[in-house]
Amino acid sequence: MSSPETQVVHMYAAREEIYPREASGRYARLRWLFVWLTQLAFYCTPWLQWNGRQALLFDLGARKFYIFGLVLWPQDFIYLAALLIICAYLLFLATAVAGRVWCGFACPQTVYTEIFLWIERKIEGKRSARIALDRQPPSASKFAKKSAKHLAWGAVALWTGFTFVGYFTPIKHLAGEVLTLSFGPWEWFWVVFYSFATYGNAGWMREQVCKYMCPYARFQSSMFDRDTLIITYAGERGEPRMPLSKKAAGKGGDCIDCSMCVQVCPTGIDIRNGLQYECIGCAACVDACNGVMDKVGLPRGLIRYSTERAMTMHYTPTQIRRRTLRPRVQIYAAILALIVAAVGTALYLRVPLKLDVIRDRGAMGREVEDGMIENVYRLQIMNTSEQAQTYRIRVSGIPTLAQVTPELVRVEATDTKAHPIRLRTAHGAAHPGSNKIAVELTSVDDPSLHVKEDAVFIVPR
Ligand code: SF4
Ligand code: SF4
Repeated sequence: MSSPETQVVHMYAAREEIYPREASGRYARLRWLFVWLTQLAFYCTPWLQWNGRQALLFDLGARKFYIFGLVLWPQDFIYLAALLIICAYLLFLATAVAGRVWCGFACPQTVYTEIFLWIERKIEGKRSARIALDRQPPSASKFAKKSAKHLAWGAVALWTGFTFVGYFTPIKHLAGEVLTLSFGPWEWFWVVFYSFATYGNAGWMREQVCKYMCPYARFQSSMFDRDTLIITYAGERGEPRMPLSKKAAGKGGDCIDCSMCVQVCPTGIDIRNGLQYECIGCAACVDACNGVMDKVGLPRGLIRYSTERAMTMHYTPTQIRRRTLRPRVQIYAAILALIVAAVGTALYLRVPLKLDVIRDRGAMGREVEDGMIENVYRLQIMNTSEQAQTYRIRVSGIPTLAQVTPELVRVEATDTKAHPIRLRTAHGAAHPGSNKIAVELTSVDDPSLHVKEDAVFIVPR
């Protein structure tokens, strides 16, 4: 009896370097459009001013978020949560309709990889030159090219890290600190951390982030169905693939096996083997194959956006478009529209004034001169508008209830103030124990700024 053979299974496969060839075409232009739009928005927004302050600033220290004309306080974080829900819902809807369009065109990982690849191409050359450079033995010119590339990557990464922190610390102040390198410890940490993440993810890890680290990549396939647009290879038309030189007498499919679709793929897969989880839907292979088809005089679309159902049922583009608006998508869109409308209405009706009425627990209701009963309160007034306001305080709920303290209180713009008030009522006007009252604040200059809070007035038994 022969002894069983020992088979060694390696649980770890070393990464194979991918050298994506530059794709050109409609989808590559679209991706660059998104690179410009997203990066202009990211790098420029912190520099915009609004009412003499940074237009978009998440001031964690002061626990206030400034979003253009909107100032959100911790009590308003429901709006931020709603905004995140809307973004997530938009992403889910886009995925149900067109698969990984976010991944392929607008995801920061894709966008920064595109920028870093552009730098790499400018310094090290095209794909073949980069492969040759990496195979070369160490030399001065290789060292110079690699150093220049990493310096350029580092500069973009640092600028990105600095801009990111500029959303949380006033960026003009931060820019002043750059000159003297006098960042605070947290600023240092986040600038370095975010720069390092950009440099590492876009420069070194690239497709590994999409394949192994991205949580969205793990569950987005659950949003796919047979009518979701994906990048597909028309095997019926393309196979059997064979080089152009062997396609004599009309034999073979339209694929000339040039491997251009594989060379441009940033994740290094061959889409002709069917849809794979590594495919980020960037459509670089579509551009590459369309270019090849143009050259050999065959119709475009051997690799194209299509759906699983369209491929098996041979749908026309019109039928595909019609299926895009299937009931599932319409329901998603209707729910999204409802959420957006609800949040928009809530924001529109939001009064930029908040009031908490806190009764002084140390001093229960007590009898003072003239037989009056007095209760003491602290009003926590939050002026969330961008103008200083003077508010008139009114109280109601007990017939003779009146304030001993002044009726007017001023609160600076986007400020909060603790304001003590004393209320009195005649003996006998309220029953012993707790009595429901209301405290109202109305802005003297703008009566639409008005809030009312319930409180209790205690009469000793
Ligand atoms: S680019 Fe088109 S023709 Fe070339 S190998 Fe890929 S599918 Fe075939
Ligand atoms: S297979 Fe095509 S669409 Fe998918 S990642 Fe590769 S190049 Fe992009």
